[in-house]
Amino acid sequence: MYKRREMLGTDAAECWSALQRLSMHELSMADAIIRRVDAEAASRPGVNFVKVGLRVGELSGVNSDALTFGFEMLVKGTRWEHLTLEIENCPRVQRCNACSHEFSAEMYETACPRCGGDDTLCIGGEELDVAYIEVEDQ
Ligand SMILES: [Zn+2]
Repeated sequence: MYKRREMLGTDAAECWSALQRLSMHELSMADAIIRRVDAEAASRPGVNFVKVGLRVGELSGVNSDALTFGFEMLVKGTRWEHLTLEIENCPRVQRCNACSHEFSAEMYETACPRCGGDDTLCIGGEELDVAYIEVEDQ
């Protein structure tokens, strides 16, 4: 393993804007993920965790960049420092009550693209959970 030094250019600016956007919501979410990982680790002794996968819905109100930033901040200096957080963003999905067509809603346009009906129901996009943990056997 070798180390390299990452120079801070635009990355630093991105971090700073993530910090400004970071709310208690993302921080408490990051904390909940870490506690979930702790619990998983306790039940699987001798297993090395390398990655935790998260599903974040468009409607969950969580900013993925801020969440990643908060997570990295909280794990720094802990046993989870090398754990990668992978976020799968889930788009808003609507189902049409008239023709049963399912579609991902762009922006806040919720009318059915197939039949034009506007009687549609939100069936996805509110996900906010740990989907998987990638492990490495020692
Ligand atoms: Zn329809």
